[in-house]
Amino acid sequence: MNNLEKIVNVTSPLMPQLDRYIEELKKIWDSRWMTNNGPEHIAFQCELEKLLGNKVELYVNGHMALDIAIKALGLKGEVITTPYTFVSTTHALVMNGLTPVFCDIKDDYTIDENKIEALITDKTCAILAVHVYGCICNVEKIEEIARRHNLKVIYDAAHAFAVKWKGKSVADYGDISMFSLHATKVFNSIEGGILVYHDEKYLKELRNLRNFGIENEESTTSIGLNAKMNEFAAAMGICNLEILEDAIAARKVIAERYLEIIQQSNGIKTIYNDRNHDIDYNYAYMPIEIDESITGFTRDDLYEFLKTRNIIARKYFYPIVTDYECYRERFDSNLTPNAKKTGNRILTLPIAASMTEEEIVRCCSALREMIERAK
Ligand SMILES: *Cc1c(COP(=O)(O)O)cnc(C)c1O
Repeated sequence: MNNLEKIVNVTSPLMPQLDRYIEELKKIWDSRWMTNNGPEHIAFQCELEKLLGNKVELYVNGHMALDIAIKALGLKGEVITTPYTFVSTTHALVMNGLTPVFCDIKDDYTIDENKIEALITDKTCAILAVHVYGCICNVEKIEEIARRHNLKVIYDAAHAFAVKWKGKSVADYGDISMFSLHATKVFNSIEGGILVYHDEKYLKELRNLRNFGIENEESTTSIGLNAKMNEFAAAMGICNLEILEDAIAARKVIAERYLEIIQQSNGIKTIYNDRNHDIDYNYAYMPIEIDESITGFTRDDLYEFLKTRNIIARKYFYPIVTDYECYRERFDSNLTPNAKKTGNRILTLPIAASMTEEEIVRCCSALREMIERAK
């Protein structure tokens, strides 16, 4: 093993050519407008509305956007959600005084729509589902359940930017969808968040809550936050949007390289093998699920082995949210056995548009070596 080999991280942020970003930054110097709905913010919003085919509002990050979505919908009581997600999803509910009710997941890691109705009580006000790794929830069934029980639907689409469902934008579904533009996501504005909504009646709150609840100079109508996207972030978003298509294409090639190895070995599952043909994936993540009884090695064995090769994979999502210190006294992760089992078996492998051929080969060879050794 060569210890001098550079570390390959689980991802590397999408960044434009520096010259291109500087060109965009010059506009900020000209306008001397750094935040509060400036020209870059407006231009970025416009581009996104074209791409996502819906009304879009921009935020400082995905978490604040989700928080504001919950507030704008006026949710109270219980919300049916998933424990197989990033803590942000659950924190946003709990911080707003809502009670999360955890529903188990399916093989594609999204909420099991067939288990939702059994969890509905007279206190249930909404469903907060997550398009995990860009796998799309059963949006049609969820819409039907929500209509029948008069529930709001929010999608945490942090992983699903630019994903298409049956050829349409995923943002077409639910009352509000949140996309995260954090540096580690498939598309970023350094930090950033997007809310997509359909009903004009939410617009006022979606905007006011992001700027302290200020309506105009002399009127503050709600108790708001400071969650505005600044001009530098919007400028990065504009530049990255120009290279997004190529970035997704590059990621697809890497996913297929991993897939060649995975398809030749038993006991390793990945979403790109059991492909849902209704989805145009964005290849945001390269999750693999390891069944030790077949592979002869555990997820942790592989994680540690890759580390010895300076390859940093990530146990994402492990632990599941209900097993974190701040939640485990309150919730029982054994009530969602599929999520729990998945958390123990999942590993996301390095994938990034900027990965070099040498890095791809190193990651693939290490995976192959682990499989061969265990045989
Ligand atoms: C990244 C992420 C968030 C939070 O987004 P930020 O932009 O980092 O605040 C929320 N939910 C999920 C599923 C995420 O992956």
